[in-house]
Amino acid sequence: MPLAYFHNLATVTNGLVVMETNNLPITEIIIDSRNKAATPFPLFFAITGVNHNGHDYIEEAYAKGIRQFVVDDGYKPSIIAHYNDLNVLQVANTLEALQQFVAFYRSKHVLPVLGITGSNGKTIIKEWMHEFLSRAYYKTVSTPYSYNSQVGVPLAVSLLRGNHKYAIFEAGISKVGEMAKLAQVIQPTHGLFTNIGPAHSKGFNNQQQKIEEKAQLFNSCSTIYYCQDHQLIHATLQRLYGASKRLKTWSFYNQSADYFLVYQALVNENKTSLQMITPTQRMTFLIPFRDSASIENIAHCLVYLLDNGFDQAQLQCCLLQLKSIPMRITLKAGMHGCQVIDDSYTNELASIKVALDFMHQQQKTDKPSKTVILSDILQSATPDQTLYQELAELLTMYQINRLIGIGPVIGHHASLFKMQKSAFFNTVEAFIENKPYFKDEVILVKGARTFQLERIVQAIEKHTHGTILEIDLGALRDNFSFFKTKLQEQTKMMAMVKASSYGSGSDGFEIVSTLQRYGVDYLGVAYMDEGIHLRQQGITIPIMVMNPTSDGFNAMAYYNLEPEIYSLELLEELCCFLTERAIQNIPIHIKLETGMCRLGIEKAAIDQLVIHLKTANLHVASIFSHLAGSEAKDHDRHTLLQAERFLTMTDYIESKLGIKPLKHLLNTNGILRFPQFQFDMVRLGIGLYGVGVSKAIQHDLTPVSRLKTTISQIKSIKKGDSIGYNRQTIAIQDMTIATIPIGYADGFSRSFGCGRGRVAIQNKYCPVVGNICMDMAMVDVSDIQAKRGDEVIIFSAEHPIDELAQRVGTISYELLTQISQRVKRIYYN
Ligand SMILES: *Cc1c(COP(=O)(O)O)cnc(C)c1O
Repeated sequence: MPLAYFHNLATVTNGLVVMETNNLPITEIIIDSRNKAATPFPLFFAITGVNHNGHDYIEEAYAKGIRQFVVDDGYKPSIIAHYNDLNVLQVANTLEALQQFVAFYRSKHVLPVLGITGSNGKTIIKEWMHEFLSRAYYKTVSTPYSYNSQVGVPLAVSLLRGNHKYAIFEAGISKVGEMAKLAQVIQPTHGLFTNIGPAHSKGFNNQQQKIEEKAQLFNSCSTIYYCQDHQLIHATLQRLYGASKRLKTWSFYNQSADYFLVYQALVNENKTSLQMITPTQRMTFLIPFRDSASIENIAHCLVYLLDNGFDQAQLQCCLLQLKSIPMRITLKAGMHGCQVIDDSYTNELASIKVALDFMHQQQKTDKPSKTVILSDILQSATPDQTLYQELAELLTMYQINRLIGIGPVIGHHASLFKMQKSAFFNTVEAFIENKPYFKDEVILVKGARTFQLERIVQAIEKHTHGTILEIDLGALRDNFSFFKTKLQEQTKMMAMVKASSYGSGSDGFEIVSTLQRYGVDYLGVAYMDEGIHLRQQGITIPIMVMNPTSDGFNAMAYYNLEPEIYSLELLEELCCFLTERAIQNIPIHIKLETGMCRLGIEKAAIDQLVIHLKTANLHVASIFSHLAGSEAKDHDRHTLLQAERFLTMTDYIESKLGIKPLKHLLNTNGILRFPQFQFDMVRLGIGLYGVGVSKAIQHDLTPVSRLKTTISQIKSIKKGDSIGYNRQTIAIQDMTIATIPIGYADGFSRSFGCGRGRVAIQNKYCPVVGNICMDMAMVDVSDIQAKRGDEVIIFSAEHPIDELAQRVGTISYELLTQISQRVKRIYYN
């Protein structure tokens, strides 16, 4: 069944038909030309975002077989002139048209639709609710991953089909005016407000406004569920909807709520007993978690399900099987040079497709072989034969080389899958016993939660000690977008990714491919090797190398890397090389000395430079200089002087040579503090990683990395005992200490020893005691109930690296780049 036909689309969006071949059906919506269509009649919406413009990818989409397009007013795709087999619709705003179209599609379905909003817990509640409903044999559709944005919501709702019995969609917003649009698309019949975080939010004046805006999701609802312990939520929902809708509330404190909840952790077990008391009933549930966030999320699920007539015994049965697996795709290093994409928590056809797209985007050119490890697909209303046939087609379309099936059902349909080297196992245990050999492959592990495929991930990932650097690629993208909004439209962005992307990369690729995807114009690396490495892995955007050496010119020319020329000697060497090899026109970047006193051509040498450039066969791609003190007011006079010198020197070179190269001067803090010097390009470094800026700006950025480890051992020590090498700390009283597996060889500097550094355990700061060792350190946990295996945060968004750096008189740049390569990096999105 198609979603609609081209004519419906034109009517609903009130668009102008620029070309029509046929009133074709629309079977699927695509907004990213790199994604593949799974059905015969996809429709491409050219969405314009901060970082990319969908209109630029229309040709590419056409080449992939897409024939139907929605474009913005005033945009005439050049393919219209070349082809006559298209359906093209022009609208005032493609994003709004997408929302209108899906709202129209949604209105054709009658079923219970739960709309979830709030600050935290949306995704996990949605996942758990999905699990409850599917186990009760209701075919349910829900938001894949966290598709809860202005674009994500319509995509999620477009997955709704006639045979679904329940739908669950989450809605997230970042500013006023957005929720009304999402509400139109979701049209929920029931609403759930999770909670509201205390955090400063960029797009809102205050909490009240944020809650009112979010509550707009519930306009079409008959019933709204929420916890009345959040007083502002309670008051606002009462005021807005108290008279017109059923409000179903729960509380840990107030017995007048519809459900009064009392809970107690079980001794010696990782479980909690939860009593739910209503005027007529008293029920007890056993929950497989102890943390307060999980208990709150479960409470939301149970209240909704009980209110909708679900059976207590059945809920209990399902409850015990819930897992708190992280709700996200993570990218890990695997054994024998493999890359592992861990998505071991859901498994429906729609989410398999999303994961395959992710795999496609993350693939490095030097790891061409693609493997998918997949469990049986559970609870689908489609007959098995059709379902696995569809799956086989999907895998073929994504050119998967190898399939490992886990489970009896997928094994039963083994003959449908044509890839070589495929293998099928009945259980995860059977797989682990006879583990196939993997080498240099990218491996997607995806399965229904009951299969616990995380055990497979454990078996094939590369093992290191317990210290991990987690990198949030979503935060990277948000920071990038934030800085984009600070730039004039024509100003280009060079991302500085030297030193493996400021220590965040294992080899820099994951970060850089994300930046490439979001449309960064240029990259800056310190050494040629870094640039070569990126090229070998498939990075195609221009790369400037800041410290080139003459013996590397050959390789640089071969790999299309662009040298920084910081002295006349280097320029002469490059000219000699070019003449010898008869290589034409290599792009160079001239670095001027304006007051940093590091590398750069000085004013006195400018005339010489001009003479050289006149005769050389070189393309001056850019001229630039670097600020010495852009972050501090104290240095503003020096900064202005640098800018003035830069302009005088560049004007002179330009007029003498009659050229107009790109000019650039600003680094992160320069972008934030001196917008008047943006010129043609800026060079963003530390800000991308969400740190290293003033407190005022920090609100708008999200730190990208989180360094964490786990406690290896707990010790009770007596007053007078000494701790560690050189006996630098002597206990002045009895105390409890924890040993953690991170030392100076991992980048936890020895200067953090003896109380100068601290870590966070259970959200409390614990000072370092004794000297830091090479591979370990000890911290004081006397004030908390810590146990072996507890998570230890060295720094994260909540525990800022800038603060840690200050404690030992350094800067975040140094701490980040010192994290050694033996610390495993994990990327998630
Ligand atoms: C590292 C570097 C930058 C980036 O500086 P941040 O302060 O990290 O933004 C810009 N330009 C040059 C020449 C650099 O070496």
